[in-house]
Amino acid sequence: MSVETWLIRGARPLGGDPADILVTGGMIAEIGPGAAAGQRNVIDADGLIALPGLVDLHTHLREPGREDAETVATGTAAAALGGFTAVHAMANTEPVADTAGVVEQIWRLGRQAGRCDVQPVGAVTVGIAGRRLAELGAMADSAARVRVFSDDGQCVSDAVLMRRALEYVKAFGGVIAQHAQEPRLTEGAQMNEGEVSGMLGLAGWPAVAEEAVIARDCLLAAHVGSALHVCHVSTAGSVEIIRWAKSKGWQVTAEVTPHHLLLTDDLAASYDPVFKVNPPLRTAADIAALRAALADGTIDCVATDHAPHPLEDKETEWAAAAFGMTGLETALRVVHEAMVGTGLLDWAGVADRMSARPAGIGRLTAHGHPLAPGWPANLVLYDPAGRAAVDPAALASKSRNTPFAGMVLPGRVMATFLRGSPTVLDGKLAR
Ligand SMILES: [Zn+2]
Repeated sequence: MSVETWLIRGARPLGGDPADILVTGGMIAEIGPGAAAGQRNVIDADGLIALPGLVDLHTHLREPGREDAETVATGTAAAALGGFTAVHAMANTEPVADTAGVVEQIWRLGRQAGRCDVQPVGAVTVGIAGRRLAELGAMADSAARVRVFSDDGQCVSDAVLMRRALEYVKAFGGVIAQHAQEPRLTEGAQMNEGEVSGMLGLAGWPAVAEEAVIARDCLLAAHVGSALHVCHVSTAGSVEIIRWAKSKGWQVTAEVTPHHLLLTDDLAASYDPVFKVNPPLRTAADIAALRAALADGTIDCVATDHAPHPLEDKETEWAAAAFGMTGLETALRVVHEAMVGTGLLDWAGVADRMSARPAGIGRLTAHGHPLAPGWPANLVLYDPAGRAAVDPAALASKSRNTPFAGMVLPGRVMATFLRGSPTVLDGKLAR
């Protein structure tokens, strides 16, 4: 626990009136006007917005196995610079995080890196091969205390396995996070199936391949009485299904990525594989539906699906390139542009969708709390003024595959505090 004391002067909690935030012993001690400076470290936060530390339900840290793309150390540095204080590390590493041993290894690497809490996600099936259930109970009982399980990268397409997984995690309040992609409908798929794919002659990934799996899984979750989380929702039809499932009172939650809130499938016309992602970029109508669903809470939260890849896997022809985009360092700025700039969410709404709700879905007890005295001092200071182009060379991630390169976005993360101690100060890593 940190013994540091910090006085954050004149920040605007959730975008409201300026206040001083006194942080000591890892906790928020006081919020209000005119706290005395004394012997404390003082940050002039005039004009900055204070938000609770962001929580990502969907990060690919790539370690162990693909340290050429990202490591826990570089990925958590990127997370801290993006304002995150906790990330869920997806299980599709090499080896796959499908045993207590591997999830504990990732959990320990996160503690060593120290910049951001790393909560491992466990695989649903052994080797993410979709044939038999992994040792979900052993991962739940391990030091990593896994509660979220996902074969992300692959879909748990077998209905019986999905049912068994939902039944299994019910016993300890876990959740199955599904990458919804009907495999037969997406064989060889390269981009969204639609007008643009027809024009470009690239094999299409139809919306129905996502929607059919989400509908089935909502029904299975209801049948079993267990919790389903839908990863990276990308279509207007998926939103309608999730809205219907929620109206029934079923335990269904969902996330949307920043890139699916801002970018459309016509970017594929450049044939630049930086825009190749799974699920693919969709249409303007899908974006409008996703934004509305995030605003009204049908989609619970934003999750980055940060998916770093080395140059050789991305800077090749479209068909051969890997799927995925980085996103940790740009997420808050993209949400600012897509949701706050459009008047769909205020900053309290951003705090809910990027901190409180993902922490709840991820069963994290130390994150997602209000900015109020007595809670852990996990917080971000964000400068909403100004706009600047995204420079991939300036990013801390080991990989450069950001689709926002050169794009002018608002805002800048100025500081991040994890349990009362800065991980980022003046927009740079503090440790
Ligand atoms: Zn996925």
